[in-house]
Amino acid sequence: MNNTMDAAATPARSIVLATHNAHKVAEFHAIIAAEHPELSVIGYDGPEPVEDGVTFAENALIKARAAAAHTGLPALADDSGICVDVLGGSPGVFSAYWAGQKKDDKANLALLLDQLHDVGDEHRAATFVSTIALVVPGVDGESAIEHVVEGRWPGRLARAASGDGGFGYDPIFVPDGQVPGHETSVAEWEPARKNAASHRARAFAVLMPLLTGL
Ligand code: IMP
Repeated sequence: MNNTMDAAATPARSIVLATHNAHKVAEFHAIIAAEHPELSVIGYDGPEPVEDGVTFAENALIKARAAAAHTGLPALADDSGICVDVLGGSPGVFSAYWAGQKKDDKANLALLLDQLHDVGDEHRAATFVSTIALVVPGVDGESAIEHVVEGRWPGRLARAASGDGGFGYDPIFVPDGQVPGHETSVAEWEPARKNAASHRARAFAVLMPLLTGL
């Protein structure tokens, strides 16, 4: 049977991703469609809610609920950041704005390094966290179904940035589980290696079964 007929017989079901970032939509679509070819991830062009939650889960749910309510479609939203043990889990939900309201990856990284200047290697543990919320709007008076999944990627913070790849805190994040003496920051990794191991990959592994039958 040819693919065109298959596609026509089973039209893709849309899930809206609560972001205005087209790059993120494409990335989510590629990851999800690889396991769920019946699903098509589309962008959200409605009003953006204020992200005033104090946890990753709260912020992801705020965004997914808004997109589900506005579109009537199942909605996904993610929230992520880096949690440093010695800072009590900060920057956490403030990761994107750690150095101020202007979203500035370089300034955020520099401030974090500066804050940990005198902290010894044994106290530099940190974890990348990715949280994804799924909200399926209710029909005929049914209440919405809500799920929140989380992926955690443990590591530690280097004393100086290294590597040109990635974004955000990648140049100072050294994941656990590397060969001693040969540890590298995520910014030195091939994208495919990061994508297979990251906090986002771990969150997606938990999310995938929840997308069956949407
Ligand atoms: P958001 O989930 O887009 O709000 O991102 C939060 C912030 O966390 C980003 O601006 C980055 O600073 C940081 N972050 C989240 N994931 C990563 C990652 O994979 N690498 C580096 N930084 C990250």
